Amino acid sequence: MSEITLGILGGGQLGSMLSVAAKKLNVKTIIYSDDQNAPAHNFCDKFINAKYDDKNKLYEFAKETDVITYEFENIPFDTLNELNKLKNVLPRPSINRLIQHRLAEKDFINKLNIRTTRYAHIESRKDLEPLADFLPGILKTATMGYDGKGQCLINNIEQISSLNIDFSKEYILEKLVKLKKEISVIITRFGNNKYEIYEPIENTHEDQILRYSKIPADINEKLFNQSKNWAIQISEELKYIGTLCVEFFIDRNENLYVNEIAPRVHNSGHLTINAYNISQFENHVRAVCSMGQIPLNKISNAEMINLIGNQIVSYRNNPKIDNNQFFFDYLKNEIKEKRKMGHLTTLK
Ligand code: ADP
Ligand code: MG
Repeated sequence: MSEITLGILGGGQLGSMLSVAAKKLNVKTIIYSDDQNAPAHNFCDKFINAKYDDKNKLYEFAKETDVITYEFENIPFDTLNELNKLKNVLPRPSINRLIQHRLAEKDFINKLNIRTTRYAHIESRKDLEPLADFLPGILKTATMGYDGKGQCLINNIEQISSLNIDFSKEYILEKLVKLKKEISVIITRFGNNKYEIYEPIENTHEDQILRYSKIPADINEKLFNQSKNWAIQISEELKYIGTLCVEFFIDRNENLYVNEIAPRVHNSGHLTINAYNISQFENHVRAVCSMGQIPLNKISNAEMINLIGNQIVSYRNNPKIDNNQFFFDYLKNEIKEKRKMGHLTTLK
């Protein structure tokens, strides 16, 4: 029996699902979150509620763990760096710092000769004025964005003068891609050229929030292979340990672009819990805890629907689901508009 204790920073649904996967492997989990109502407190072995800059609490947390990981990327670099002096933090803090910043992230991807959308660094309104060529485009905060937060569509140059933008923050402007499809590839890397990779997942967003994911993705063989190869190349280049997700755009001419990298388990991979022999969560725990690597095996095709805001209510009240369906309730205290409350996976 394993005697490993895994520390997890962040207490959302990804932390919950990591805890459940860890339990199956006899790995104990301690969740550290600044939200006292963090849903993962329902699933972990121990819960610490403290701020991410509380040195004493971080020390106490590190002392009790063997290895530390995180379930969301917007954790201060200093927090990860301090913890890393005490125990291994995986993925490494420097990887998180790179990916947290949209500009550094895109520069890194382009250096690998992997295509991204066209982008420009924006620090003032003046920087926007010569960029008519990038419009229509999306202005995104360089850091801290998720689920479309911190993003603003700019259609034309005339619109720029009337936009209310807080220039105390940095931004990037990205040219809008005429999307045919979005896909993601999830990979768990254990060491040099040692990885397990899931097949590409097709994703549908509504209001910039993931609504629906399915395998197989309806894409041609070239895109199937290219997206997997790029995910392998990115994870090798980063010398990444753990589960990583690469989000892609496919345009109307069947060109593939990397949209962004998530240095963590990912919403589009929830269906791996039921559709594969080993989920993205279990693989993450296995990789960061240096446990054995088991070949991946797909059990079934699947689709997953995110239950956002009030959509959870009918499932909670009347969980009438078929044998091939799996309902997950994140047990969040409060229902909020645009908040991910649960999901439903259907095996096909
Ligand atoms: P977040 O960090 O909030 O997930 P993303 O950059 O992934 O931000 O954007 C969220 C969604 O918005 C994307 O999945 C896509 O549907 C849409 N989007 C973002 N950037 C572009 C773009 N340049 N062209 C077309 N659609 C985009
Ligand atoms: Mg995204």
